[in-house]
Amino acid sequence: MKKIGVLTSGGDAPGMNAAIRSVVRKAIYHGIEVYGIKYGYQGLIDGDIEKMELGSVGDIIQRGGTKLYSARCEEFKTEEGQLKGIEQMKKHGIEGLIAIGGDGTFMGAKKITEKGYPCIGVPGTIDNDIPGTDFTIGFDTALNTIIDAIDKIRDTATSHERTFIIEVMGRDAGDLALWAGLADGAESIIIPEFDDDFEDIIDRLKRGHDRGKKHSIIIVAEGVGSAVDLGQKIDEAAGLESRVTVLGHTQRGGSPSAADRVLASRLGAYAVDLLLNGQAGRMVGIQQNKLVDHDIVEILNSKHEIDFDMYRLSKELSI
Ligand code: ATP
Repeated sequence: MKKIGVLTSGGDAPGMNAAIRSVVRKAIYHGIEVYGIKYGYQGLIDGDIEKMELGSVGDIIQRGGTKLYSARCEEFKTEEGQLKGIEQMKKHGIEGLIAIGGDGTFMGAKKITEKGYPCIGVPGTIDNDIPGTDFTIGFDTALNTIIDAIDKIRDTATSHERTFIIEVMGRDAGDLALWAGLADGAESIIIPEFDDDFEDIIDRLKRGHDRGKKHSIIIVAEGVGSAVDLGQKIDEAAGLESRVTVLGHTQRGGSPSAADRVLASRLGAYAVDLLLNGQAGRMVGIQQNKLVDHDIVEILNSKHEIDFDMYRLSKELSI
């Protein structure tokens, strides 16, 4: 293999740039040419492709977002779109591809691999919703952004003796909510994986209030539903006047944390190693701090599991 491509697709995540840098530098270290494909699979179809040099990835390790831009591309879900992408790979002499993104991105990588062009997936999404890896690139940074926001909200919650309901990202996975809740001592954490008993949420609030607690924090993952609606329900049931904050896209941006930069650097380089070793249709990950790789089809057919022990602990500590 002499030429490989790299793209970022789906939602951006802090640390994607560090992963791109790692792919480019590791490939060049091995004497391989690297082509950056802009706007994910849309750029692959359109031939928005350019050769990357060592300097192309200078000064990006500390930046959020993705230098290669990202896009959602419906056309690539079709056979025709995929064939157009393959044509562009042929035209540029690209023999293998590294795709950084979430499960949708891996679906695209699987399709290209099936058409004879080896692809390796690198998990980059703040949600931490990918099986086969303990952490995805971007999760740690997003978590720290949430913690920072909640710490600030807590000052107001204490000063005004208020209950705050904070909605964080996580359509299918409650990891951000769970980790943030544990890190910030939330009274209740409401996530899509568990059907929370509404009475239990109210009881916790009342117990806290009865023992003189000045404020309460409830964290809700977006996948559960609207925090505003939940706030109204809680206010009616507990006789409160809570405040709702939806953190939204602030969670996606920002300079990646040290942990995300290191993770991205390790995963990006490992993906290059796999391609050069003739592997195809794999996803790289980290489990128990060891680099691992899995069949991308297996990953697509399985589901990320939330850490139930952590969930239980959060309940025990917010008694
Ligand atoms: P995130 O979870 O952060 O949103 P993602 O990678 O899951 O990331 P998606 O929008 O689901 O984001 O997928 C990204 C892109 O991958 C899609 O816009 C599309 O181009 C491609 N893709 C998704 N599903 C398929 C599929 N079934 N076949 C081919 N390509 C696909």
